[in-house]
Amino acid sequence: MSTIRTTCPYCGVGCGVLATPGTDGSMTIKGDPDHPANFGRLCSKGSALGETLALDDRLRHPEIGGTRATWDTALDLVAKRFRETIIAHGPDSVAFYVSGQILTEDYYAANKLMKGFIGSANIDTNSRLCMASSVAGHVRAFGADTVPVCYDDIEQADLVVLVGSNLAWCHPVLFQRLEAARETRGTKIVVIDPRETATCSIADLHLAIAPGTDVPLFNGLLAAIAGAKTKTKARKFIDTHTTGSADAFQTARGMPIETIAETTGLSLVELRAFYELFVATERTVTIYSQGVNQSSAGTDKVNAIINCHLATGRIGTPGAGPFSVTGQPNAMGGREVGGLANMLAAHMSLTDAEHRRIVQSYWRSPVIADKPGLKAVDLFRAVGDGRIKALWIMATNPVDSMPEADTVAAALTACPFVVVSDVARHTDTTKYAHVLLPALGWGEKDGTVTNSERRISRQRAFTPAPAEARADWWQMAEVAGRMGFGKEFGWTSAHEVFVEYAGLTAHENNGRRDLDLGDLATIDSAAYDALQPVQWPRGQQRFFAVGDFFTPDRKARFVATPYRPPALATDDTYPFVLNTGRVRDQWHTMTRTGKTARLSAHIAEPFLEVQRDDAARLGLVAAGIAQVTSRHGQVLLRVVVSERQRRGSVFAPLHWTDQFSSQGRVDTLIAGNVDPVSGQPELKAMPVAVAPFAAQWYGLAVSLGMPETGGAAYWARSRAGVGWKVEMAGVEAPVDWQAHARALAGVGDEVSWISYHDAPTGQFRSCAYDGDRLVAAFFAARQPVAVDRSWLTALLGSNISEAVERGVVLAGRAKVSAQNKGPIVCVCFDVGRDQIVESLRGGCRTVVDVGTSTTAGTNCGSCRSEIKRLIDSTLVATPA
Ligand code: SF4
Repeated sequence: MSTIRTTCPYCGVGCGVLATPGTDGSMTIKGDPDHPANFGRLCSKGSALGETLALDDRLRHPEIGGTRATWDTALDLVAKRFRETIIAHGPDSVAFYVSGQILTEDYYAANKLMKGFIGSANIDTNSRLCMASSVAGHVRAFGADTVPVCYDDIEQADLVVLVGSNLAWCHPVLFQRLEAARETRGTKIVVIDPRETATCSIADLHLAIAPGTDVPLFNGLLAAIAGAKTKTKARKFIDTHTTGSADAFQTARGMPIETIAETTGLSLVELRAFYELFVATERTVTIYSQGVNQSSAGTDKVNAIINCHLATGRIGTPGAGPFSVTGQPNAMGGREVGGLANMLAAHMSLTDAEHRRIVQSYWRSPVIADKPGLKAVDLFRAVGDGRIKALWIMATNPVDSMPEADTVAAALTACPFVVVSDVARHTDTTKYAHVLLPALGWGEKDGTVTNSERRISRQRAFTPAPAEARADWWQMAEVAGRMGFGKEFGWTSAHEVFVEYAGLTAHENNGRRDLDLGDLATIDSAAYDALQPVQWPRGQQRFFAVGDFFTPDRKARFVATPYRPPALATDDTYPFVLNTGRVRDQWHTMTRTGKTARLSAHIAEPFLEVQRDDAARLGLVAAGIAQVTSRHGQVLLRVVVSERQRRGSVFAPLHWTDQFSSQGRVDTLIAGNVDPVSGQPELKAMPVAVAPFAAQWYGLAVSLGMPETGGAAYWARSRAGVGWKVEMAGVEAPVDWQAHARALAGVGDEVSWISYHDAPTGQFRSCAYDGDRLVAAFFAARQPVAVDRSWLTALLGSNISEAVERGVVLAGRAKVSAQNKGPIVCVCFDVGRDQIVESLRGGCRTVVDVGTSTTAGTNCGSCRSEIKRLIDSTLVATPA
């Protein structure tokens, strides 16, 4: 087969991908050198896409009540239950909860059915958790959800300010573009983040602010801008193109810089250094992400940033502007079609009667929703209290990703009718479904996505759909038809959905709205198939260089942003602030990235990053287990002791679910406090208590088959090498270790075991061989098991016949130190931390040196920031 051009399904960078199927069923993945988002680059996740296509655990057929059903039966039931519920309880008694993972065509179909035909706006998306505050901030300032900048601006800026954005891990290809620009241009970089993240490896200045204090920081900047010798250009921009500056300046001046220093935890020297740099640098881009958005003051944070760009006139010109980078591959597409409960469609407003008339006339719909629907947190509360009685969840996992996640699970248990469309058969959400509908996965589906710089790209199918899986838009259209709306949902292809959507953006537009894809509304199927990445508006990379905002008077709005601290404060019971976020090589709830051993090699367990002094005070040891509690839940996480954390703050990743861990669902801890404007929940400032978990034993099992977890209180399962790995810890040690090892291994009874047991020290080790082949191993100890995981998992499945070698494996120690890799840093070439440190001891001094010596960092580049950190820490610790 020939190479197919498509788009990465992970983050909002929207990298172009070349997928080439091999004759042996493999898939070669490369970055598309012609795609303007990545120019051939891919990060570790994108590079490993070919390893995530296995069909194990795919949902292949519709199911009703856990039993296989035909599509007709399942769709008839969904339509019937939604119709009956609406007749009995009204249109607001039903809801859709969709996802930034679905394609624009899917989103359009769902939004049209709910808002134009059911007549409710109860459709929300997991993008609510990601960037709803940016949408709200844009609308308040610009009059529309318009992203004014583009990726080129990152490379053309002289100063890039990163706020609440770990770009190195969450948008790695943009980070690489910034890194490259910095090398050639000398771009100054300021990182504003409570944690010292991997992104700080290229920062000139890291401002480790107290959680949730971005507004005073940027209000202080606005005051500094106002107090600086006003530049004519900026003054002219304010006077000509904005309103509301006086109020915003007055509010900003309300907090003296000394109070800002106290509130943010920054020194006056740090504050002044940042303010002076910003004021003096004309070409400044401010990139912000979840650290800004996921806050009970998220919209104010966004507007505090935008205010500074309006006050300097730095918007829409090369290398200048505020830039919200989106987390999900099609968060932007969802915004465009109106996938949020408070938007209509095509960047039109639900609360604008003229917009409602335009959309309704285009859709020829019997009704049109005329008030915002329930936003995600309220939506699931309405499910829980019975106001919503029928819910369709599409391509997302709210039982893990929503705050108060256990309450969400309880709400789904109580809901009379739950439909879940997904690719995976077993997620923490599918178990609550009355009806399961098999969806198409990446590589099977066909449509468009929009990235963070308004660039529409095609996702193309290159592999057949498994069994009966069908497109999400098709599922929506079929249900619409069965509810009596078939005439307006008679699409036969993604192309037909797309051109209808493009037509809506142009309908009665006449330049009044930012989003106009009119020139794509008439493309035929062949042109749609061949569509190259296209940025809107056509032929224009940026917005607002000469004003012309989308408010009624075409002027931008300054928004006064008085400081509000996070919704919940720490207290004696919950003295730590929990920040949640992503890790480099996992995505969302791991339904795709969890399938590959390569991506699991970097970080294989849910963890808690704790500042060193805090850890000592709490009695936490590195690699021990921490129990984290809040008023809403409790989790068990592996302890990572760190200097990169503020005292009093802890960090945990959001990815782990009940499929991969015993108690790793961190969103069970989070309260559903939301921003009053955007409805986005505060996911980065939750008061928690942390204590050591009193583990009496720790275990490590590797196996060719999926190991059991043996009832351990703590366990985390991951792919490893050609098999699996389970880390565990428990309170009560098994009576018979050998029986325990056999029960865990999952490799049958026909294997021979070689074991070592030292009862007084609690050491137990056991290896299972099928002939000469190592098929499983189990290690237990009273302390965290000290075995090189990458070395051990590399041995799995290999022949080990010599008694001496078997003794080495049983000892859990590589024969020579060179075989020890330590935790994997470079997943592309399987290079571990210990190997990199060894290369530094051998004389390497730069990331390039390390790459030449070990190959680490020479493929996708996602690990280069970690290599840089290792260089800094190792060379400082052991000077040459
Ligand atoms: Fe995919 Fe990585 Fe590109 Fe994001 S940066 S789109 S995850 S390859």
